[in-house]
Amino acid sequence: MKLVCVRCQIELRPVKLGMPVVEMAGSPARPLRIWFADVWGCKECGFEVCAGFSKHPIEWFDERFARYLESAKAHEIVYDYERGGQVN
Ligand SMILES: [Zn+2]
Repeated sequence: MKLVCVRCQIELRPVKLGMPVVEMAGSPARPLRIWFADVWGCKECGFEVCAGFSKHPIEWFDERFARYLESAKAHEIVYDYERGGQVN
């Protein structure tokens, strides 16, 4: 995958592979799907983005969901809200 920072005009570099990304939905928001993606970053301005998502997320009704969510929370995690501006 090739990603370029528009501001700095240099290629982004992989920062972390296999980051859990928890998709949140509803009001109040609750975990809906767990994806795995790579975090890419710009070494100049610090911009970071999740890209290269797994093809098949783990859905909330999957029997593995709770276990995966707890495991993800024990490490670094990114939340993906329907409406932005929410802080962990
Ligand atoms: Zn940049």
